Amino acid sequence: MNDVSAGEAILAPFAAHAAQSRGRRYPEPKPELRSEFQRDRDRIIHSNAFRRLVYKTQVFVNHEGDLYRTRVTHSIEVAQIARSVAVALKVNEALTEAICLAHDLGHTPFGHAGQDALNDCMRDYGGFEHNLQSLRVVDELEERYAEFPGLNLTFECREGILKHCSVHNARELGELGERFIKRRQPGLEAQIANLADEIAYNNHDVDDGIRAQLLDLAALREVRLFRRQYDAVAAQYPDLGERRVIHETIRRMINYIVLDFIHSTQAQLNAARPRTIEDVRANPKTLATLSDGCREEHLELKAFLREHVYRHYKVLRMTTKARRVLQELFEAFFKDLSLMPPEHRAQSVQAEAAQGAAGRARGVADYIAGMTDRYAILEHRRLFEPGERT
Ligand code: MG
Repeated sequence: MNDVSAGEAILAPFAAHAAQSRGRRYPEPKPELRSEFQRDRDRIIHSNAFRRLVYKTQVFVNHEGDLYRTRVTHSIEVAQIARSVAVALKVNEALTEAICLAHDLGHTPFGHAGQDALNDCMRDYGGFEHNLQSLRVVDELEERYAEFPGLNLTFECREGILKHCSVHNARELGELGERFIKRRQPGLEAQIANLADEIAYNNHDVDDGIRAQLLDLAALREVRLFRRQYDAVAAQYPDLGERRVIHETIRRMINYIVLDFIHSTQAQLNAARPRTIEDVRANPKTLATLSDGCREEHLELKAFLREHVYRHYKVLRMTTKARRVLQELFEAFFKDLSLMPPEHRAQSVQAEAAQGAAGRARGVADYIAGMTDRYAILEHRRLFEPGERT
C-alpha cells in the first residue's frame, strides 16, 4: 500500500502530503502499510511519555477524582475535535491526530502550576517551556528504537508539536526554529490542532468545574456561549435532569464552535487560495480561525474560567502545593545528583560535563518533567518524610 491508498488521494493540494514531506532527521525506508504520518501517530501512541499522560493533569490534581480530565483524555478530545475539522477541510487527518496526541507530551506534573514552577527553577539555566520539552521528548528522550534516539518523527509533525518557542530558543533549532524568527506559520494541520486544544479545554473545564462544584449554573449563565445553548436546551427539555442538561449544553457549545471553526477557516482558504503547504506557511497570518463573534465569545468563556476556576481558592491551594513539591524536588536533586535514580543521575552528570551547570539543571528538569502527579508526590515524600520508605 502506498501513501495514496492510505487515504491521501482526497486531500486538498494545500494539505500536508507525505510524498512532499520534509522528511525525518534520520532517513528511514517508507512504511509498507501506513502513510508516513500514520506511522508518526502510531509511534506517539506507543511511547512512554504518552502513557504517562494518564496520570498527569491540567487543573485538577490526578487523585482528586476519577471523572476529571487527565492529559491523556484531554489529548484524545483535542484529537477528536481536530480530526473532524481536518476531514471537513480535506487536510491530513493522520498528521492532525499525531500532532494532537503529542502536543502535551512534555508537560510537567500538576499542569500549568508545575510548568511555571519548573520554569522558575530553570530561570538561570535556559528556562523550561513545555512545548520545547514535548519536542525534546519525541526527538531525544524516548528510548524505543535501535536505529535512532527519540521517535524520529516527520518534520511536519515536529513543526506542529512546537507550537510556541522563544526566538532565543528558536535559533538553536535550525530548520524547525526558522518560522519563529521569520514569523511564518506552520501547516494547516498544526494550526487546526492548536485551535482544537483551546476549544477542548475551555469546554471540558466547564464540565470539570461544575463537577468540582467550583462553578454553578447561575454564574455560568453570565457567559453568552453557555447561556444561549443552556436556555435552548432547558426550553426544549423542561423536565430533563440537570446532569443531562449540562452535558447536552456543552455538546452543543462544542458543536457550535467547531462548525464556526470549519466555516471561518474555509472562508479564509477561499480568500487566500493557498496551492501548497508552503503557501499556507508563507501566509501572513494563520488560516485556521474562528469568526470574530465566535472568537469573542470564546475569549469571554476563557476569562470566566480563569476567574472562577483557575483562580478559585481551592484550585490555588492545590497549585501552591504543587509548586512547592516541584521546587523542593528540583532544589534537592540539583544540589545532590546522587539522590536521583542512577540512570537520571548519569544523564545529568554527562550533560554537566558537556554544558556545565545548565546541563546539570536540564538533566534534573528532564527527570522532574517526566514524572506523573502521583510519582512526584511519592518522590517528594521519599525525600522529605522521615518515616517514608526510600
Ligand atoms: Mg493541551
